[in-house]
Amino acid sequence: ATACAAFALLFVAIGVWFSWRPENEANDDFIAAIRNGEFIPYYQPVMDIETGKLRGCEVLMRWRRPNGMIVSPGQFMEYAERNGHIFDMTRHLMEQTCEEVGKLHLENPDLKLSINLFAGHFRNRDVVNDIKSIYEGSDISFQQIVVEVTERYPLEDLELARKIIAELQALGVRVALDDVGTGHGGMAYLQKLGIDIIKIDKMFIDAIGDDDSSTTIVDSMVELADNLGMGIIAEGVEQEEQIERLRELGVTAAQGYYFAAPMPANQYLEFALNLELA
Ligand code: C2E
Ligand code: CA
Ligand code: CA
Ligand code: CA
Repeated sequence: ATACAAFALLFVAIGVWFSWRPENEANDDFIAAIRNGEFIPYYQPVMDIETGKLRGCEVLMRWRRPNGMIVSPGQFMEYAERNGHIFDMTRHLMEQTCEEVGKLHLENPDLKLSINLFAGHFRNRDVVNDIKSIYEGSDISFQQIVVEVTERYPLEDLELARKIIAELQALGVRVALDDVGTGHGGMAYLQKLGIDIIKIDKMFIDAIGDDDSSTTIVDSMVELADNLGMGIIAEGVEQEEQIERLRELGVTAAQGYYFAAPMPANQYLEFALNLELA
């Protein structure tokens, strides 16, 4: 009986170790990384392809490990969203943007700063309060802020999302629909949510030129955006020919490796300075 109990105990111990302990430990490490300020903003320029001027940037999160390694969102974002850490992380990210690029934005009122939100941010109004408390009285005005909501994952409550978006817009914040053409929302999101800007996914940009149907799709997105009074940004532009085709199609704003990859604040400030903006 003693041997039996010992076995049972061992079995339970192993079970606990494998199912619970490692996960908790990983989570503790993740929380420690948040506290240590290891999640930082990178900035990718958004360019005006008519004038060659800087329009602003998209803020893209990076995990800078203590050993200096830079980890991309693909490695941690899903975990952060699933565990709800993303709310704290997004707040920290926004606070850092005030410190790092506040002065640039104060001196250049036309520059925009785009922040990525996820579907969970549209489940309650906290995000409105976060944006209000962080940017109110900062060097970055509400008019300079764009929030991006991806249509890659469904929004649970469109009515509530609509209200949250309206409250953000009342502050002066603009709302962009990200990854348009890849996900759930489509026309319904554009119509119901009151979107200001659409971002054409890289998938379509990659295919323009060598694929007539993609050119047609981009063309109709531009027409739709024009008719609905929305702005349009092309994502993931890597080649000169793509810029030329986009210009022909009437797209005026683009971001992508062709111009610059996402970069840390000091490099972004230098990039802006070199364009004689700062
Ligand atoms: P996204 O919002 O669609 O961001 C664009 C992604 O495309 C970024 O990847 C960017 O680095 C990459 N990219 C930009 N130009 C090019 C190009 O010319 N070629 C190629 N191949 N890629 C390009 P990144 O930074 O790895 O971010 C991946 C995704 O993670 C983002 O996709 C976004 O959905 C998510 N993400 C990033 N930062 C945040 C954040 O702060 N909050 C939330 N909720 N999600 C974030
Ligand atoms: Ca985005
Ligand atoms: Ca995108
Ligand atoms: Ca994309």
